Amino acid sequence: MAFAEVQSPPSFAQQLNDELRNAHPTEIIRRAYELYGPKLALVSSFGAESAVLLHLAAQVSKDIPVMFLDTGMLFGQTLDYRKSLSAELGLSDVRDLRPRFADLATNDPDAVLWKTDTDACCEIRKVVPLDLALDDFDAWMTGRKRFHGGDRLRLPVVEETERHLKFNPLANWSKEELDAYVIEHNLPAHPLVAAGFPSIGCWPCTKAVDAGADVRAGRWQGQDKTECGIHTARAPGVVSDVGGGI
Ligand code: SF4
Repeated sequence: MAFAEVQSPPSFAQQLNDELRNAHPTEIIRRAYELYGPKLALVSSFGAESAVLLHLAAQVSKDIPVMFLDTGMLFGQTLDYRKSLSAELGLSDVRDLRPRFADLATNDPDAVLWKTDTDACCEIRKVVPLDLALDDFDAWMTGRKRFHGGDRLRLPVVEETERHLKFNPLANWSKEELDAYVIEHNLPAHPLVAAGFPSIGCWPCTKAVDAGADVRAGRWQGQDKTECGIHTARAPGVVSDVGGGI
């Protein structure tokens, strides 16, 4: 006797993704804020495309906590941009997340770990500080987009990790839509974009690229590594890594 296959009920993340998969980014952010209020964070690198999500979120609430990973290896221009853009958008709660002193002292006292083990370097400078900061939250938002290609082509608007719900309000937007939004709202560009950096992370692992190259072609050049690890999904059955915006 054959039995019909039993389907497990959709998770809350799946239900929300079904509800919001074609929604405008503002609607996605508003829904996330309605659901989670002060338990919702936004993670931003203050990189090349960050102004769009930060501006959209500021229209919903300027008080949404913004997590900024200050790895100690960022370009000076990024640190300046983090300050000027936060002030211009009126963001009231931008938090600088730094590596733990003990992790640096034990694993990278001379700040050269990036030369030999970029995964370990990202772990102590990005993954651990963000994991600790997100203990205070139930959900967070990222600036990842499908047009960045690779694994991000499968990026859902709402996904689930071991401890949090993750919203990707810009998942559906194209480069043209982002550019149009920047022009419409006269958003300031990161100063390194004009110098050929379409994606900006730590200085040792970010290079300028030729016009028309893949957005992330300048990150970890010459290595298999394409992501820093903060977006590695940990929920059972979830795609193992759907790309990092930082
Ligand atoms: S991007 Fe490079 S310098 Fe920055 S944390 Fe990762 S390996 Fe270290």
